Amino acid sequence: MNATPENASIARIGEVLRDHQSFVLISHVRPDGDAIGSQLALGFSLMAAGKSVRLINEDGLPDNLAFMSGSDKIELPPAEPLDVEVAIALDTAAKPRLGDNALHAASKAKIWLNIDHHKSNPSYGDLNFIDSSSPATGQILYQIITQLDLPLPAETRDAIYVAVSTDTGSFQYPSTTAKTYEMAADLIHRGLNVGTLNSQTYDNHPYRRVELMRALLNTLELSADGLVANWELRDQTRIDLALLPEDSEGLIDIIRAIRGVQLAVFFEELEGGKIRVSMRSKDKRLDVCRIALEFGGGGHALAAGIRMTGPLEEAKALVLAAIRRHIEAAGL
Ligand code: 5GP
Ligand code: MN
Repeated sequence: MNATPENASIARIGEVLRDHQSFVLISHVRPDGDAIGSQLALGFSLMAAGKSVRLINEDGLPDNLAFMSGSDKIELPPAEPLDVEVAIALDTAAKPRLGDNALHAASKAKIWLNIDHHKSNPSYGDLNFIDSSSPATGQILYQIITQLDLPLPAETRDAIYVAVSTDTGSFQYPSTTAKTYEMAADLIHRGLNVGTLNSQTYDNHPYRRVELMRALLNTLELSADGLVANWELRDQTRIDLALLPEDSEGLIDIIRAIRGVQLAVFFEELEGGKIRVSMRSKDKRLDVCRIALEFGGGGHALAAGIRMTGPLEEAKALVLAAIRRHIEAAGL
């Protein structure tokens, strides 16, 4: 395990969970499968242990994850701070990524737990458990729940699987280890239905997502040396296709998969003028988290992101220039 020195022991986390009664669990803005999956996994385990639990997300539950059982428990942040003893941040690399309203909702909590797998996480909790060797926060929660002998109801079981599957590109990325497959096997022994869950996760996209693919392909660019592929999503396309934020989730894998490409970049105009940058690397020498950190973003060595000021042309020029510097420094 790649534990940072300030990590709490699982036993200590167990004490905090046991010694308190009320919890709010939060994950990052624009939640993905690992974010919502982590909230449901730990949330339903704690509920089954008799705790009072609220599951809050700044952006609520995205449509593409509404199939997850128990997902109707995910709420938008209430206007008034919740009366809870413990706040638990899940899968969230930096505290502001929880969102202002979610942070306000959790502002009465006496203790903050921070459980995550992003190596850029600065350990902002009172108690932290950051394991950057884990491919998903869901896998860390599986370890915590099983080691502490907490309840593992069906909602928790399925949520862990979806969290890990979506964060590993269906158990493909190099972060996937024997432990990941052993965990999946154990979840299947506990009654998980692989076919149904995978079909709900991957074979159930709205038509507009494929239209989005067509629009993105029209903007595709490949660098002269073939190492960098990028595409972009304009505000106008979002409006024309009536896109939801989650519609672009995972599409970057299409250009990451091009032979010879070592780095894929997705530039996206957000409502309000900010630019979201997603990066994926295929080469450990090309650490996209380090590139993202230059612009105030973060993430993992092979998958990272930034939110930066626009306009898109400017953001694109700055990020592509930084990528070029890193490619040269890596000697690729
Ligand atoms: P994605 O490209 O899928 O949005 O994100 C890839 C990884 O980078 C995720 O693990 C995500 O948490 C992280 N990430 C994405 N955007 C940001 C950002 O703006 N700031 C930070 N700190 N991390 C980000
Ligand atoms: Mn994650």
